[in-house]
Amino acid sequence: MSYTHLSKNVVNIRKPHKCVCCAQKTEPPAKMTYNTGIYEGVFQTTYTCPICELFMTAERWKEIDNEIGEGDIWEFEEYKQFREQHVNQTKNE
Ligand SMILES: [Zn+2]
Repeated sequence: MSYTHLSKNVVNIRKPHKCVCCAQKTEPPAKMTYNTGIYEGVFQTTYTCPICELFMTAERWKEIDNEIGEGDIWEFEEYKQFREQHVNQTKNE
């Protein structure tokens, strides 16, 4: 498995998009991160939701970054906790 990241932009989505990390669909209006890259020699575009994006900026994450597939992030207990916290914070605002 090899993935080369080319670009990353935060965009306002106009259509629902599935997050490549948590495999959850996000409905507009919302912001998502639009990524382009080369995976196994094939140009690829993906979206990530703000929660996954935040989680992946954590230092520890960089070690496993390129090795997980769509939805695999749920195997990480700390991700579930992180997401729960984040969702609760959003509700309280
Ligand atoms: Zn996500």
